[in-house]
Amino acid sequence: MKKVLIISFLSILFFSSCEFKNENSSTIIKDTTKVSQSEYLVSGALWYQTSAEAKAMYHQSFNLAKLMLDKNLKESKSDKPKAIITDIDETILNNSPSNVRLIKTGKLYSRESWTKWVNAGIAEALPGAVDFCNYAKDAGVTMIYLSNRRVQSLDITMKNMTNEGFPFVNKENYFLKSTTSDKTARRDSVLANYDVILYMGDNLCDFSEDFDHRKDNFGGNVVEENKEMFGSKFIVFPNPMYGVWERAAYNDTWKTPDSQKDSLRKAALKDNY
Ligand SMILES: [Mg+2]
Repeated sequence: MKKVLIISFLSILFFSSCEFKNENSSTIIKDTTKVSQSEYLVSGALWYQTSAEAKAMYHQSFNLAKLMLDKNLKESKSDKPKAIITDIDETILNNSPSNVRLIKTGKLYSRESWTKWVNAGIAEALPGAVDFCNYAKDAGVTMIYLSNRRVQSLDITMKNMTNEGFPFVNKENYFLKSTTSDKTARRDSVLANYDVILYMGDNLCDFSEDFDHRKDNFGGNVVEENKEMFGSKFIVFPNPMYGVWERAAYNDTWKTPDSQKDSLRKAALKDNY
């Protein structure tokens, strides 16, 4: 009798356990479907905000920029005053908190969310950025801040950069976006007055619109065709959070519906081993 009771007890325990596991499994599946649409931003934002490697890469890029500033300045044959065209966001200012806010609220990027962040005017300088801009100033080279922040954000951007200690915070040094994200016309107007010895940016379109075409090999072929420019005239900074590289995965258009983006991101990845 005692043996029968023990077996019955163990059977109940076993089946309850299975049932528990089943419930647990379905709970996991249920939770997976609830993952927010901004969850994919976590890894990039974590790397950008916390990794020592990210900080080291900024220093590496600015250290290289100093070397190339000296070299290009020495080799320039132009009589025009010298300038460096730099992007602002994720090149000299850190906007990663705006991405973290998207993650925490489960939302995707919107013009409203971005404007709200920019208007807070609290973006911090990236490692080595202020030091580099002052190095350029000491060498007699003008910093031109060419950014796709909107012209309406000029005053708050200048206030933010003044607070962070950047030099050249004058209206004439800023070329912000009024109508188009294409920076070509703004670059050309700088080139009319300056000999631009260096370009800096986290997006390849900060250097040339040629890099906007990402349909062929996600833009990798254009990089290969211009490989000698990187680290000499073009200084690239890391941004794993957003950029044209992401659009490339969405059939190269921002018009792709949000509902399709997760599968398109995964479809763009290879595991060919
Ligand atoms: Mg940028």
